Amino acid sequence: MSPDVSPSPPHRLRGMTQLEMESLLDTNGFERYRGRQLYQWVQRRGARSFDEMRNLPAPLREWLAENTVFGGVESAETLRTSSDGSYKFLFRLEDGRKVESVLMPDPKRGYWTQCLSSQVGCAVDCKFCVTGFNGFFRQMRTDEIVDQVLYARRHLLEDQPGANYRNLVYMGMGEPLLNTDNVLRSIRLLIDNDGINLSPRRITVSTSGILPGMEELASSGLNVKLALSLNATTQEEREEIMPITKKYSLVDLLEFCRNRQIGRNRVTFEYVLLAGFNDTPDHAKQLVKLLRGIPCKVNLIPFNPSTLLPWQRPKTEDVEEFSRIIREANLTLSVRWSKALDVDGACGQLAGQSRQRGGSRGMDLEQKPRPEAIQKSLGDLDFFATVTSDDDENE
Ligand code: SAH
Ligand code: SF4
Repeated sequence: MSPDVSPSPPHRLRGMTQLEMESLLDTNGFERYRGRQLYQWVQRRGARSFDEMRNLPAPLREWLAENTVFGGVESAETLRTSSDGSYKFLFRLEDGRKVESVLMPDPKRGYWTQCLSSQVGCAVDCKFCVTGFNGFFRQMRTDEIVDQVLYARRHLLEDQPGANYRNLVYMGMGEPLLNTDNVLRSIRLLIDNDGINLSPRRITVSTSGILPGMEELASSGLNVKLALSLNATTQEEREEIMPITKKYSLVDLLEFCRNRQIGRNRVTFEYVLLAGFNDTPDHAKQLVKLLRGIPCKVNLIPFNPSTLLPWQRPKTEDVEEFSRIIREANLTLSVRWSKALDVDGACGQLAGQSRQRGGSRGMDLEQKPRPEAIQKSLGDLDFFATVTSDDDENE
Protein backbone atom coordinates (compact mmCIF):
# COMPACT_ATOMS: atom_id res chain seq x y z
CA MET A 1 0.00 0.00 0.00
CA SER A 2 1.27 3.42 -0.87
CA PRO A 3 1.36 5.83 2.08
CA ASP A 4 -0.96 8.80 2.14
CA VAL A 5 1.25 11.87 1.90
CA SER A 6 0.93 14.98 -0.22
CA PRO A 7 3.12 15.69 -3.26
CA SER A 8 6.19 17.93 -3.29
CA PRO A 9 6.33 20.03 -6.47
CA PRO A 10 8.21 20.18 -8.74
CA HIS A 11 8.00 16.51 -9.58
CA ARG A 12 11.00 15.11 -7.76
CA LEU A 13 10.42 11.43 -8.16
CA ARG A 14 12.54 10.30 -5.21
CA GLY A 15 10.18 12.08 -2.85
CA MET A 16 6.93 10.82 -4.40
CA THR A 17 4.57 8.05 -3.37
CA GLN A 18 3.07 5.49 -5.69
CA LEU A 19 -0.28 7.22 -5.52
CA GLU A 20 1.28 10.52 -6.54
CA MET A 21 3.10 8.93 -9.45
CA GLU A 22 -0.08 7.21 -10.62
CA SER A 23 -2.05 10.48 -10.52
CA LEU A 24 0.76 12.34 -12.25
CA LEU A 25 0.84 9.92 -15.14
CA ASP A 26 -2.93 9.61 -15.25
CA THR A 27 -3.48 13.37 -15.52
CA ASN A 28 -0.89 13.52 -18.28
CA GLY A 29 -2.57 10.92 -20.46
CA PHE A 30 -0.61 7.80 -19.55
CA GLU A 31 -2.08 4.61 -18.16
CA ARG A 32 -2.34 4.65 -14.40
CA TYR A 33 -0.58 1.32 -13.89
CA ARG A 34 2.56 2.88 -15.37
CA GLY A 35 2.74 4.88 -12.15
CA ARG A 36 3.17 1.67 -10.22
CA GLN A 37 5.94 0.54 -12.56
CA LEU A 38 7.63 3.91 -12.25
CA TYR A 39 7.39 3.75 -8.46
CA GLN A 40 9.01 0.34 -8.44
CA TRP A 41 11.92 1.61 -10.49
CA VAL A 42 12.39 4.75 -8.46
CA GLN A 43 11.70 3.63 -4.91
CA ARG A 44 12.07 -0.12 -4.90
CA ARG A 45 14.97 -0.66 -7.25
CA GLY A 46 16.58 2.73 -6.71
CA ALA A 47 16.98 3.46 -10.44
CA ARG A 48 19.12 6.50 -11.15
CA SER A 49 18.29 6.95 -14.86
CA PHE A 50 15.25 6.64 -17.09
CA ASP A 51 17.22 4.37 -19.42
CA GLU A 52 17.18 1.69 -16.74
CA MET A 53 13.37 1.56 -16.83
CA ARG A 54 13.14 -0.99 -19.58
CA ASN A 55 9.49 -1.90 -19.21
CA LEU A 56 8.35 1.70 -19.69
CA PRO A 57 7.59 2.72 -23.30
CA ALA A 58 10.01 5.15 -24.91
CA PRO A 59 7.47 8.03 -25.19
CA LEU A 60 6.78 7.80 -21.45
CA ARG A 61 10.49 7.77 -20.64
CA GLU A 62 10.93 10.83 -22.84
CA TRP A 63 8.02 12.58 -21.14
CA LEU A 64 9.48 11.77 -17.73
CA ALA A 65 12.89 13.07 -18.74
CA GLU A 66 11.31 16.35 -19.83
CA ASN A 67 8.82 16.82 -17.02
CA THR A 68 10.27 15.29 -13.91
CA VAL A 69 13.58 15.00 -12.11
CA PHE A 70 14.89 12.30 -9.82
CA GLY A 71 15.80 14.79 -7.11
CA GLY A 72 17.72 13.34 -4.21
CA VAL A 73 21.47 13.54 -3.96
CA GLU A 74 23.46 14.61 -6.97
CA SER A 75 26.66 12.74 -6.33
CA ALA A 76 28.69 11.31 -3.53
CA GLU A 77 32.26 10.96 -2.52
CA THR A 78 32.63 7.64 -0.80
CA LEU A 79 35.25 6.48 1.61
CA ARG A 80 35.76 3.08 3.17
CA THR A 81 37.50 2.96 6.51
CA SER A 82 40.05 0.31 7.13
CA SER A 83 39.41 -0.21 10.82
CA ASP A 84 35.77 -1.26 10.81
CA GLY A 85 34.64 -1.37 7.19
CA SER A 86 32.20 1.56 7.47
CA TYR A 87 31.35 3.48 4.34
CA LYS A 88 31.23 7.23 4.58
CA PHE A 89 29.28 9.19 2.03
CA LEU A 90 29.65 12.88 1.46
CA PHE A 91 26.55 13.70 -0.54
CA ARG A 92 26.43 16.73 -2.78
CA LEU A 93 22.96 18.22 -3.10
CA GLU A 94 21.39 20.11 -6.00
CA ASP A 95 22.52 23.50 -4.68
CA GLY A 96 26.07 22.35 -3.99
CA ARG A 97 25.55 21.92 -0.25
CA LYS A 98 26.92 18.79 1.32
CA VAL A 99 25.70 16.38 3.95
CA GLU A 100 27.18 13.24 5.39
CA SER A 101 25.93 9.77 6.01
CA VAL A 102 27.69 6.73 7.41
CA LEU A 103 26.89 3.08 6.82
CA MET A 104 28.23 0.83 9.56
CA PRO A 105 28.53 -2.92 9.80
CA ASP A 106 27.69 -4.91 12.87
CA PRO A 107 29.95 -7.90 12.29
CA LYS A 108 28.53 -9.82 15.25
CA ARG A 109 24.93 -9.60 14.14
CA GLY A 110 25.68 -9.43 10.45
CA TYR A 111 23.71 -6.38 9.43
CA TRP A 112 24.28 -2.77 8.43
CA THR A 113 23.03 0.46 9.98
CA GLN A 114 22.91 3.76 8.17
CA CYS A 115 23.08 7.12 9.91
CA LEU A 116 21.06 9.73 7.99
CA SER A 117 21.22 13.50 7.87
CA SER A 118 17.96 15.44 8.10
CA GLN A 119 19.10 19.06 7.74
CA VAL A 120 22.05 20.83 6.19
CA GLY A 121 23.61 22.01 9.44
CA CYS A 122 21.71 22.54 12.67
CA ALA A 123 20.36 25.54 14.57
CA VAL A 124 20.12 23.92 17.99
CA ASP A 125 23.65 24.90 18.92
CA CYS A 126 24.64 22.19 21.38
CA LYS A 127 28.02 23.10 22.78
CA PHE A 128 29.66 19.73 22.16
CA CYS A 129 28.60 19.32 18.55
CA VAL A 130 30.46 20.48 15.47
CA THR A 131 27.32 20.46 13.34
CA GLY A 132 25.80 22.87 15.84
CA PHE A 133 28.98 24.91 15.89
CA ASN A 134 28.84 25.34 12.12
CA GLY A 135 25.23 26.53 12.18
CA PHE A 136 22.13 25.95 10.09
CA PHE A 137 21.98 26.19 6.31
CA ARG A 138 18.68 24.72 5.18
CA GLN A 139 16.14 21.93 5.55
CA MET A 140 16.64 18.74 3.62
CA ARG A 141 13.76 17.77 1.36
CA THR A 142 12.07 14.37 1.50
CA ASP A 143 13.69 13.23 -1.74
CA GLU A 144 17.14 14.13 -0.40
CA ILE A 145 16.59 12.26 2.86
CA VAL A 146 15.24 9.15 1.12
CA ASP A 147 17.94 9.12 -1.53
CA GLN A 148 20.69 8.80 1.06
CA VAL A 149 19.25 5.34 1.72
CA LEU A 150 18.87 4.30 -1.92
CA TYR A 151 22.31 5.54 -2.87
CA ALA A 152 24.07 3.90 0.06
CA ARG A 153 22.16 0.64 -0.16
CA ARG A 154 22.91 0.31 -3.84
CA HIS A 155 26.56 1.07 -3.24
CA LEU A 156 26.73 -1.54 -0.49
CA LEU A 157 25.01 -4.24 -2.51
CA GLU A 158 27.20 -3.62 -5.54
CA ASP A 159 30.25 -3.87 -3.34
CA GLN A 160 29.02 -6.75 -1.20
CA PRO A 161 26.18 -8.65 -2.86
CA GLY A 162 23.86 -10.17 -0.30
CA ALA A 163 24.79 -7.73 2.49
CA ASN A 164 22.02 -7.20 5.03
CA TYR A 165 21.14 -3.49 4.89
CA ARG A 166 18.78 -3.14 7.81
CA ASN A 167 18.74 -0.35 10.39
CA LEU A 168 18.37 3.39 10.06
CA VAL A 169 19.12 6.10 12.56
CA TYR A 170 18.34 9.79 12.05
CA MET A 171 21.51 10.77 13.88
CA GLY A 172 23.56 12.49 11.20
CA MET A 173 23.56 16.20 10.55
CA GLY A 174 20.61 18.16 11.81
CA GLU A 175 17.70 18.01 14.20
CA PRO A 176 15.10 15.74 12.58
CA LEU A 177 12.25 17.07 14.70
CA LEU A 178 12.82 20.59 13.41
CA ASN A 179 12.16 19.19 9.94
CA THR A 180 9.22 16.99 10.87
CA ASP A 181 7.28 17.29 7.60
CA ASN A 182 10.12 15.93 5.52
CA VAL A 183 11.33 13.47 8.13
CA LEU A 184 7.89 11.90 8.67
CA ARG A 185 7.25 11.84 4.95
CA SER A 186 10.63 10.19 4.36
CA ILE A 187 9.84 7.54 6.98
CA ARG A 188 6.52 6.77 5.29
CA LEU A 189 8.32 6.24 2.00
CA LEU A 190 11.09 4.19 3.59
CA ILE A 191 8.69 1.76 5.25
CA ASP A 192 6.29 1.38 2.32
CA ASN A 193 5.90 -2.33 1.53
CA ASP A 194 5.66 -1.63 -2.19
CA GLY A 195 8.73 0.54 -2.12
CA ILE A 196 11.87 0.54 -0.01
CA ASN A 197 10.20 -1.66 2.58
CA LEU A 198 12.29 -1.11 5.70
CA SER A 199 10.88 -2.11 9.05
CA PRO A 200 9.72 0.88 11.15
CA ARG A 201 10.96 -0.89 14.29
CA ARG A 202 14.45 -0.61 12.87
CA ILE A 203 14.25 3.13 12.38
CA THR A 204 15.33 5.46 15.20
CA VAL A 205 14.74 9.19 15.29
CA SER A 206 17.16 11.00 17.57
CA THR A 207 16.24 14.39 18.99
CA SER A 208 17.76 17.03 21.20
CA GLY A 209 14.31 17.33 22.80
CA ILE A 210 12.00 19.31 20.54
CA LEU A 211 8.74 18.69 22.37
CA PRO A 212 6.26 19.69 19.64
CA GLY A 213 8.11 17.43 17.20
CA MET A 214 8.10 14.60 19.74
CA GLU A 215 4.34 15.05 20.09
CA GLU A 216 3.93 14.99 16.34
CA LEU A 217 5.97 11.82 16.05
CA ALA A 218 3.94 10.18 18.82
CA SER A 219 0.66 11.13 17.12
CA SER A 220 1.85 10.02 13.70
CA GLY A 221 1.16 6.40 14.56
CA LEU A 222 4.52 5.40 13.09
CA ASN A 223 6.00 2.50 15.02
CA VAL A 224 9.52 3.88 14.99
CA LYS A 225 11.86 4.42 17.92
CA LEU A 226 12.75 7.63 19.67
CA ALA A 227 16.17 8.47 21.07
CA LEU A 228 16.41 11.52 23.31
CA SER A 229 19.82 13.12 23.65
CA LEU A 230 19.65 13.80 27.38
CA ASN A 231 23.33 14.53 28.01
CA ALA A 232 22.86 16.10 31.45
CA THR A 233 21.03 15.38 34.69
CA THR A 234 19.97 18.85 35.87
CA GLN A 235 18.18 21.73 34.18
CA GLU A 236 21.19 24.02 34.79
CA GLU A 237 23.79 21.65 33.38
CA ARG A 238 21.65 20.80 30.40
CA GLU A 239 21.07 24.49 29.65
CA GLU A 240 24.80 25.00 29.71
CA ILE A 241 25.53 22.49 26.97
CA MET A 242 22.12 22.46 25.26
CA PRO A 243 20.57 25.95 25.36
CA ILE A 244 17.39 24.53 23.79
CA THR A 245 16.60 23.31 27.33
CA LYS A 246 15.50 26.86 28.18
CA LYS A 247 12.65 26.33 25.75
CA TYR A 248 11.85 22.67 26.44
CA SER A 249 12.76 21.90 30.02
CA LEU A 250 14.30 18.71 31.35
CA VAL A 251 11.26 18.05 33.53
CA ASP A 252 8.89 18.36 30.55
CA LEU A 253 11.05 16.11 28.39
CA LEU A 254 11.13 13.41 31.05
CA GLU A 255 7.42 13.76 31.64
CA PHE A 256 6.84 13.20 27.93
CA CYS A 257 8.96 10.05 28.05
CA ARG A 258 7.09 8.82 31.10
CA ASN A 259 3.61 9.36 29.67
CA ARG A 260 3.77 9.21 25.92
CA GLN A 261 4.93 6.39 23.75
CA ILE A 262 6.32 6.43 20.27
CA GLY A 263 5.03 3.32 18.56
CA ARG A 264 5.40 0.33 20.86
CA ASN A 265 9.00 1.00 21.71
CA ARG A 266 11.07 1.97 24.70
CA VAL A 267 12.81 5.30 24.47
CA THR A 268 16.60 5.41 24.33
CA PHE A 269 18.37 8.07 26.34
CA GLU A 270 21.60 9.12 24.73
CA TYR A 271 24.19 10.61 27.04
CA VAL A 272 27.34 12.18 25.67
CA LEU A 273 30.05 11.87 28.32
CA LEU A 274 32.10 15.06 28.57
CA ALA A 275 35.20 14.71 30.73
CA GLY A 276 34.91 16.59 34.02
CA PHE A 277 31.44 17.93 33.21
CA ASN A 278 28.86 15.14 33.38
CA ASP A 279 30.88 11.94 33.79
CA THR A 280 31.21 11.46 37.56
CA PRO A 281 29.64 8.65 39.61
CA ASP A 282 27.29 11.26 41.12
CA HIS A 283 26.03 12.10 37.65
CA ALA A 284 25.46 8.41 36.96
CA LYS A 285 23.46 8.07 40.21
CA GLN A 286 21.43 11.17 39.39
CA LEU A 287 20.74 9.77 35.92
CA VAL A 288 19.46 6.53 37.43
CA LYS A 289 17.17 8.57 39.69
CA LEU A 290 15.81 10.63 36.81
CA LEU A 291 15.03 7.60 34.69
CA ARG A 292 13.33 5.59 37.43
CA GLY A 293 9.97 4.34 36.22
CA ILE A 294 10.58 5.09 32.54
CA PRO A 295 10.85 1.99 30.33
CA CYS A 296 14.06 2.88 28.55
CA LYS A 297 17.57 2.10 27.45
CA VAL A 298 20.67 4.17 28.00
CA ASN A 299 23.23 4.81 25.33
CA LEU A 300 26.49 6.31 26.58
CA ILE A 301 28.56 8.15 23.99
CA PRO A 302 32.08 9.13 25.07
CA PHE A 303 32.63 12.58 23.59
CA ASN A 304 34.35 12.71 20.25
CA PRO A 305 36.93 15.42 20.41
CA SER A 306 37.27 18.18 17.88
CA THR A 307 39.81 20.98 17.79
CA LEU A 308 36.89 23.38 17.43
CA LEU A 309 35.38 22.45 20.78
CA PRO A 310 36.73 22.83 24.32
CA TRP A 311 35.62 19.44 25.67
CA GLN A 312 37.71 16.35 26.29
CA ARG A 313 37.02 12.68 25.84
CA PRO A 314 36.36 11.01 29.21
CA LYS A 315 38.85 8.55 30.68
CA THR A 316 38.09 4.90 29.95
CA GLU A 317 37.92 4.09 33.66
CA ASP A 318 35.38 6.87 34.22
CA VAL A 319 33.24 5.51 31.39
CA GLU A 320 33.49 2.06 32.97
CA GLU A 321 32.52 3.30 36.42
CA PHE A 322 29.61 5.29 34.97
CA SER A 323 28.48 2.18 33.07
CA ARG A 324 28.72 0.02 36.16
CA ILE A 325 26.35 2.28 38.10
CA ILE A 326 23.83 2.29 35.25
CA ARG A 327 23.98 -1.49 34.87
CA GLU A 328 23.64 -2.07 38.61
CA ALA A 329 20.40 -0.13 38.49
CA ASN A 330 19.19 -2.74 35.97
CA LEU A 331 18.99 -0.31 33.11
CA THR A 332 19.73 -1.64 29.63
CA LEU A 333 22.97 -0.03 28.56
CA SER A 334 25.05 0.28 25.45
CA VAL A 335 28.27 2.23 25.12
CA ARG A 336 28.98 3.75 21.76
CA TRP A 337 32.60 4.46 21.12
CA SER A 338 32.85 6.21 17.81
CA LYS A 339 34.29 4.11 15.11
CA ALA A 340 36.38 5.01 12.14
CA LEU A 341 38.93 6.99 14.06
CA ASP A 342 41.40 6.29 11.28
CA VAL A 343 39.62 8.93 9.24
CA ASP A 344 39.01 11.22 12.19
CA GLY A 345 35.62 9.75 12.88
CA ALA A 346 33.55 11.61 15.35
CA CYS A 347 30.21 10.55 16.64
CA GLY A 348 26.82 11.78 15.62
CA GLN A 349 27.95 15.00 14.11
CA LEU A 350 29.17 16.61 11.00
CA ALA A 351 32.62 17.39 12.12
CA GLY A 352 33.67 19.92 9.55
CA GLN A 353 36.92 21.33 10.80
CA SER A 354 36.12 24.54 9.00
CA ARG A 355 36.56 27.81 10.78
CA GLN A 356 34.42 29.44 8.13
CA ARG A 357 31.21 29.14 9.99
CA GLY A 358 28.41 30.64 8.08
CA GLY A 359 25.17 29.08 9.13
CA SER A 360 22.81 30.77 11.49
CA ARG A 361 22.87 29.60 15.08
CA GLY A 362 21.14 30.18 18.32
CA MET A 363 18.01 29.90 20.32
CA ASP A 364 15.65 31.67 17.95
CA LEU A 365 15.82 28.59 15.74
CA GLU A 366 14.64 30.68 12.87
CA GLN A 367 16.68 28.56 10.58
CA LYS A 368 17.48 31.22 8.07
CA PRO A 369 20.16 30.04 5.71
CA ARG A 370 23.24 32.14 5.07
CA PRO A 371 24.22 32.13 1.41
CA GLU A 372 27.85 32.93 2.10
CA ALA A 373 28.33 29.70 3.95
CA ILE A 374 31.14 27.63 2.62
CA GLN A 375 31.05 23.91 2.86
CA LYS A 376 33.90 21.55 2.89
CA SER A 377 35.18 18.90 0.62
CA LEU A 378 35.71 15.35 1.66
CA GLY A 379 39.40 15.62 2.32
CA ASP A 380 38.83 18.21 5.02
CA LEU A 381 36.00 16.50 6.72
CA ASP A 382 36.12 14.91 10.07
CA PHE A 383 33.52 12.25 9.60
CA PHE A 384 31.18 11.13 12.26
CA ALA A 385 30.12 7.63 12.88
CA THR A 386 27.21 6.80 15.06
CA VAL A 387 27.33 3.23 16.15
CA THR A 388 24.12 1.81 17.43
CA SER A 389 24.81 -1.69 18.49
CA ASP A 390 21.69 -2.20 20.53
CA ASP A 391 19.46 -4.57 18.71
CA ASP A 392 15.80 -4.76 19.47
CA GLU A 393 14.96 -7.83 17.52
CA ASN A 394 13.48 -9.45 20.56
CA GLU A 395 11.34 -6.60 21.76
N1 SAH B 1 20.06 16.38 16.42
C1 SAH B 1 19.79 15.07 16.89
C2 SAH B 1 20.43 13.99 16.05
C3 SAH B 1 21.82 14.24 15.55
S1 SAH B 1 23.07 14.29 16.78
C4 SAH B 1 20.20 14.94 18.34
O1 SAH B 1 20.84 15.84 18.88
O2 SAH B 1 19.83 13.94 18.94
C5 SAH B 1 23.21 12.57 17.20
C6 SAH B 1 23.86 12.28 18.53
O3 SAH B 1 25.25 12.66 18.52
C7 SAH B 1 23.24 13.04 19.70
O4 SAH B 1 22.96 12.14 20.75
C8 SAH B 1 24.34 14.00 20.13
O5 SAH B 1 24.24 14.27 21.51
C9 SAH B 1 25.59 13.25 19.75
N2 SAH B 1 26.78 14.07 19.55
C10 SAH B 1 26.89 15.27 18.96
N3 SAH B 1 28.17 15.70 18.99
C11 SAH B 1 28.89 14.73 19.58
C12 SAH B 1 30.27 14.57 19.90
N4 SAH B 1 31.17 15.50 19.59
N5 SAH B 1 30.66 13.45 20.52
C13 SAH B 1 29.77 12.49 20.83
N6 SAH B 1 28.46 12.58 20.54
C14 SAH B 1 28.02 13.69 19.94
FE1 SF4 C 1 21.99 19.77 16.37
FE2 SF4 C 1 21.97 17.30 17.44
FE3 SF4 C 1 24.27 18.64 17.07
FE4 SF4 C 1 22.58 19.44 18.96
S1 SF4 C 1 23.66 17.47 18.89
S2 SF4 C 1 23.61 20.77 17.51
S3 SF4 C 1 20.63 19.02 17.98
S4 SF4 C 1 22.90 17.92 15.50
